Amino acid sequence: MSGAGSMTRRFDGTRLVVASHNPGKVREIADLVRPYGIDTVSAGALGLPEPEETGATFAENAELKARAAATGAGLIALADDSGLVVPALDGAPGIYSARWAGPDKDFGHAMERIRDALNDGDNGGDNDCDPAAYFVCVLTLAWPDGHVESFEGRVYGHLEWPPRGDRGFGYDPIFVPDGHTATFGQMDPADKLAINHRAAAFRQLIDACFAPAP
Ligand code: IMP
Repeated sequence: MSGAGSMTRRFDGTRLVVASHNPGKVREIADLVRPYGIDTVSAGALGLPEPEETGATFAENAELKARAAATGAGLIALADDSGLVVPALDGAPGIYSARWAGPDKDFGHAMERIRDALNDGDNGGDNDCDPAAYFVCVLTLAWPDGHVESFEGRVYGHLEWPPRGDRGFGYDPIFVPDGHTATFGQMDPADKLAINHRAAAFRQLIDACFAPAP
C-alpha cells in the first residue's frame, strides 16, 4: 500500500473517472472530490466494460478496476474494493463478500453461511467460534501511464446474531463496531460514515492526493 509520503503522486487533472457501475458509489465519490474543483464521470457513462475481479486481494481488485478504467478512458480513475473479513474463517468471505450473497444478492443467506461456518468449527483452527471481524476498503487512484496509489481503511468489531437493523446494507445487521453495542444496520448512517472503513480510506486518499499541499 502506498499512502502518505513524499513519493505519493498527487491528482493533477480536472476530471476523474469513477470506476464503478454502482450509482450510489459514483455519487458519493463525486460529492467527495467536488470541493477540490474536480469533475467526475462514471465508467458506465463512458461505456467502459466492468473488468472481472480476478485479484487475490482487495488491493489487487481495486487496482485492476482502476487501471482498466484509466487506460480505457485516458484519464485518472478511482476504484474501490471492500468486504468483510472473519479471521476465524481464514479471512472469509473477504474478497468474495458480494459473491457469498449469490446472484440474488441474498445477504440473509450470506449472514447465515457465516454463522454456520463459525458454529461448524471445521476450519482447522482452534479459535473456530471467535466472532471477531473487520470491514476493509481499498481505494485506488490509477493514472493512464499505469501508476497507482492505493489506500486501505478498516473498522474492527465483532459479529452477533440474530441480524439487527435495516438501515444499512450487506453484512451491516450482524456487525457491531468496537466501542458500540448497536450493529451497523441499526446505526444512524451519518454515525456509521464517521467510523467506517470507506471513510478511513477516503481520508487517507484526500490527504495524500487531493488536499492542497501543506
Ligand atoms: P464491492 O462493492 O464489490 O466492493 O462489494 C463489497 C461487498 O462487501 C458488498 O457487497 C457487501 O456485501 C460487503 N460490504 C462492503 N462494505 C460494507 C459495509 O459497509 N457494510 C456491509 N457490507 C459491506
